[in-house]
This record gives sequence, structure tokens and C-alpha cells, in this order.
Amino acid sequence: MGRFSVGGNADSWCTKCKLVLAHTVVAMVEKVPVKAQCNTCGSTHKFRSDSPKSRATGSKEIKEALRSKSKRLSAGMVKANHYQELMAGRDPSTAKTYSPKSTFEKGDLVRHVKFGLGLVTVLKDHNKIEILFEEGAKVLVCAGAS
Ligand SMILES: [Zn+2]
Repeated sequence: MGRFSVGGNADSWCTKCKLVLAHTVVAMVEKVPVKAQCNTCGSTHKFRSDSPKSRATGSKEIKEALRSKSKRLSAGMVKANHYQELMAGRDPSTAKTYSPKSTFEKGDLVRHVKFGLGLVTVLKDHNKIEILFEEGAKVLVCAGAS
């Protein structure tokens, strides 16, 4: 014998009264009420045992997630400022044109066909370099890193 039965009483969120109120169960699926009639206003609606307030908590979490996302975006802007800092006082005419066949050293200025002017910040695995471009760091292949 379940907690609910058709024709029996159950507390439900009333969409009209905007309150959790006593309802009469109108329809059930398995042992769960799906439809209820409000004992207060008489309207029949979907049975919902919890108030929509618990859903509001969910949207708050979404807001939090969006906030941390915008935090990440501003962190990206800090990186771009860091790029400006690194580039300050450097002569772009000394930049090597990037080619996967070239060798690079840490601190080299590199001109990339797509990403523009960048600075070699990290040497990796003898044939990869991380270059900081204005739009962010990119790992590129090269013939050798010394
Ligand atoms: Zn009602």
C-alpha cells in the first residue's frame, strides 16, 4: 500500500495558489501521483510535491557557472596584457618567420602567418615550442629547440 491513492489527500505545489497545499490525487502512474486537484482553489494540474523554489536554486548554480566563466575570460585578458608586456621594447623586424623547419630558442621573436608576432616562451620535447601570441599561447612544431 503506497503513500498515495487516487481520491486521497496529498500535498502538492498548486500552480494557481503558488503554495504547497492539500490536494486530492486525480491520477497516478505506478505509485506516484501525476495529477492533483487543489483543495483550496479547485484547479486540476500536474502533481508536484516540491515548490519551484528548489528549481530557483538550480538557476543560481547556472549563474555561478556563468560568473566563473566570465572570470576565465578576464584571466585571458590578463594574459593578453602579459603579451603586451613581453613585446614592449622588442624590435619586430628581428622576428624570425615561423616555419616548422626552423630552429628556435627561448626568447626568440617569431612572426607567424596566421597568429602574427609572438615570443617563444617554452621549449618542449626538442621539436616543439610554445609561442605566446596576442590571442594566447600556441604550441607549434619546429625542426629543433636549443
Ligand atoms: Zn490552488
